[in-house]
Amino acid sequence: MSSKSTWTTQRCKSPELKMDVDETVADRQDRLPGFSTARLRESCVLLVGAGGLNGAVAGPLVRKGIGQLEICDHDRVEVSNLNRQPYYASDLFEPKAHRLAANAAREGQQGTSVLGHFTPLTEQNAAFLSAEADVVVCGVDNNRTRAVASRILRQAGIPVIFCAVSETADYGWLFVQEPIGPCIGCVFPRIAAAEGERQPCRAVPAVADILHTIAGLVMYAIDSLLMERPRGWNFRSVHLVGTTTDVIDTVTSRAGCALCGGQAEPQKGAT
Ligand SMILES: [Zn+2]
Repeated sequence: MSSKSTWTTQRCKSPELKMDVDETVADRQDRLPGFSTARLRESCVLLVGAGGLNGAVAGPLVRKGIGQLEICDHDRVEVSNLNRQPYYASDLFEPKAHRLAANAAREGQQGTSVLGHFTPLTEQNAAFLSAEADVVVCGVDNNRTRAVASRILRQAGIPVIFCAVSETADYGWLFVQEPIGPCIGCVFPRIAAAEGERQPCRAVPAVADILHTIAGLVMYAIDSLLMERPRGWNFRSVHLVGTTTDVIDTVTSRAGCALCGGQAEPQKGAT
């Protein structure tokens, strides 16, 4: 467990709309089968990474009425982020976690607490950063952090949604790792092998359309973990061009997985 003294945290809060009208901000979403704004308000989501994917999740999640949102990232806002991530010229060169917290808080009207932590997720601080979290979204682009998040958060019993887009920006995927069942290393063995590796961040091509497509699926997966919205999959991939088939799948554990051991499904007849 890490002390928080090694990084800075920006704390923000969305206003809570008080008007003398017959409907609430959440009126329309609460009409959906299984949707519960009350459940959302008592929940906390941790976003690991404040780049294109989690940038597209943060504001809409606050607008929807999540009770607490936490964000961790060690990067600063760069000029080349501004075509697709929710940052402004006044945010340039500031910590992304701080600015995403502030910008996401402005999108809400339901009193969300938003905390931005200027630090990467590491083996040492993962338990501290996720202490309040009901769901974690891992939107980073390096396999080492994915492996650390997978192992530590699974041990902590916290579901993690992993997501990524391709370097050609026309393909993306997400995987929902729950405390029992397959882990991200079962789906991608190369991630299971990456825990000890150092992987420098790369400048990759990116544009908003695929990021928002995957972010929308991530938001649905968050709802499915927090409330009674049905989900018949744990892995999805989307190809924008459409000449390759999209995937909707329920991945199972892989025997010998280096991250989880691949032993989630008991053998029939085992004692
Ligand atoms: Zn596994």
